Amino acid sequence: MARKPTAGSVASANSEQAALDWGYFQPLYPWQLMEWQQVTRRFPAIPHALLLTGIQGIGKRRFAHKLAAFVLCQQPVRSATSAQDSHGSALPTEVTLPCGRCDDCQWLAAGSHPSLMRIGLEVDAKGKPS
Ligand SMILES: [Zn+2]
Repeated sequence: MARKPTAGSVASANSEQAALDWGYFQPLYPWQLMEWQQVTRRFPAIPHALLLTGIQGIGKRRFAHKLAAFVLCQQPVRSATSAQDSHGSALPTEVTLPCGRCDDCQWLAAGSHPSLMRIGLEVDAKGKPS
């Protein structure tokens, strides 16, 4: 199966913005580093599903999208972190992240990766879950 993106599917300015909005290549929040390291170190032996919970606005969606990019990326890269925990706890000094350059990352950036399917709640005309 050919997996290389076509010239027309490679990230454009609009799709790069869309990728930023989804959080595939945005930095992790400092409070996500420990969980990120725990999950990515186990890869590929990670559960078939993960439930991310927490209060609104802490970056659950960004974490999920970045994890999808990590799983799909052909060449994840090690990256140093500079995060400091204000409570004095030790944070990872290095994490493994999606590269942002391989074919799969480019497909994600273009919003057209064939192996990624987003599933959400159905909403009614008023935007409420039905
Ligand atoms: Zn990649």
